[in-house]
Amino acid sequence: MHICLKTHNKRSKILNNDNLNLPYYGFSEYLKQRYGERTYKLPVNLPAGCPNRDGRVATGGCIFCGEEGAGFELLPSFLPVREQLLKNKEYIGKKYNVQKFIAYFQNYSNTYFPYKVFCEYISQAIIPDVVAIYISTRPDCIYPEHMQFLKDMKEKTGVDITLEIGLQSINNETLKFLNRGHTVEDFFQAVERVKGYGLDVCAHVIQDLPMDTVEDIACCADQLSSAGVHQVKCHSLYILDGTVLGDLYQQGRFQVLPLEDFIKRTGVFLSHLDPSVVVQRLISRAPKERTLYCNHSTGWWKVHDMILEYMTKEGLSQGCSYQKP
Ligand code: SF4
Repeated sequence: MHICLKTHNKRSKILNNDNLNLPYYGFSEYLKQRYGERTYKLPVNLPAGCPNRDGRVATGGCIFCGEEGAGFELLPSFLPVREQLLKNKEYIGKKYNVQKFIAYFQNYSNTYFPYKVFCEYISQAIIPDVVAIYISTRPDCIYPEHMQFLKDMKEKTGVDITLEIGLQSINNETLKFLNRGHTVEDFFQAVERVKGYGLDVCAHVIQDLPMDTVEDIACCADQLSSAGVHQVKCHSLYILDGTVLGDLYQQGRFQVLPLEDFIKRTGVFLSHLDPSVVVQRLISRAPKERTLYCNHSTGWWKVHDMILEYMTKEGLSQGCSYQKP
């Protein structure tokens, strides 16, 4: 692993100005640069489905997916979008003393609605102080009509729009094991489609899937960088009771990786990632209930510190092994 001091120094300079000292391009830093102040996500819960659960692509969903889809800590989905946003804005705004917000459509596949229903939901997110809309979905739910609507809305309102799309692994065998119902190629085609409408992409990846190799992790960062994704959200695998993965884990048929491996993989991933890609986060937090395994029962801040220590010790920073094409 070679050290690229040029990238690191440049990043350090920017980060030090913000009183942060991360060896990667963190989300808070990006938000401050983009919106001039601290900006927080407001979660929105829609009664969304998922084609990987309802039989359109597959049944059962991804083997790690709980009943809440990929999200938790949400208001009930029967509440109107505007009401959810106003409630969360009031609460989060006061708690963190912030004035700017991102409406985050988090749970399940939020573009998986008929066109008119989708437009109605998303339009409700245009409220004062919401400066961006982030929408989680799958690679097979990037529909031209929906994207055109988002493009028009972005142009009309000036609100930034990012599609958060799950990739999880760069290895098609792993995607099959996870029952993701899409391939790596499907994901990159979806990225191209979203970018074609002038919208941003955030890729979701899991760093510690035991069937992936360290080479897969490096390759994943290389390919995401080449594809020009704007952001990544990294996950550590967590295992919920009542899921297929939970059953495999309890039967001793699925072993998690040691924490050290997760830390090393995260360092490798960041080293190979284009330094201009924003890193939304590095570690998952699991719901309190029904969690069988998460981060080796170590607090996420502690794991974060361990990643920083590892990167410092190895002289790593985001992009230090990235080769611009
Ligand atoms: S794509 Fe998301 S919502 Fe659908 S099954 Fe997988 S994790 Fe769950």
